[in-house]
Amino acid sequence: MLQITMRVAKETVVAIEYTLKDDQGNIIDASGERGPMEYLHGAQNIIPGLEQGVEGLVAGDTKNVLVPPQLGYGEYSEKLLQQVPLTAFGANTPQVGMRFHAETNLGMRVLTIKKIEGEEVTLDGNHELAGKTLHFDIKVVSVRAAELTELSHGHPHQSGGCCGGGGCGSGESSEGGCCSTGESSEGGCCSSEEGAAAGGCCSTEQPVAQKQGGCGSAGCGCSA
Ligand SMILES: [Zn+2]
Repeated sequence: MLQITMRVAKETVVAIEYTLKDDQGNIIDASGERGPMEYLHGAQNIIPGLEQGVEGLVAGDTKNVLVPPQLGYGEYSEKLLQQVPLTAFGANTPQVGMRFHAETNLGMRVLTIKKIEGEEVTLDGNHELAGKTLHFDIKVVSVRAAELTELSHGHPHQSGGCCGGGGCGSGESSEGGCCSTGESSEGGCCSSEEGAAAGGCCSTEQPVAQKQGGCGSAGCGCSA
């Protein structure tokens, strides 16, 4: 029987296992128990540097991929720092390190409370990995041709629904993406806020390598 080895290229759905470390060798994230991360290659589902590193590999290949900030989560920008008065939090008690979604002049973003001084709170709109060089150890688990519906949605469909079993309901737009109605046309799914911020969805469960579109490792459970 003819065995065709498919290489990672545009319009393939790729599953990878990965461990992500920082410059000091600390593990930032790993596919580990979540299982392989599946994404649609060439659809900006993951950060550009990682996507470039996987290009051309075949199932079973392992590789170390070094991703500089500009091909990862961008350089750290002081412009994304802003001060708000403590009173803006109303009855809530802000604490350093707390994160929340907020509408900013750059759209919906995840903001982190960086500093609290007297009545002034400093918010940081940088991604937590902004400015960091990322060290990925990856293993390609599988490579397959994408289905037409996956190409039109811009993310893989398969095992599981959005963010671990949700499925998409009827809110799906024909433009792609799924789940909540507030969804951005960029393709994230589930919570509308997250889709617009870092892309993808379900902040805490989301693999950090995943940038836009797609949902966790599972793809989106649109009934397509
Ligand atoms: Zn879909």
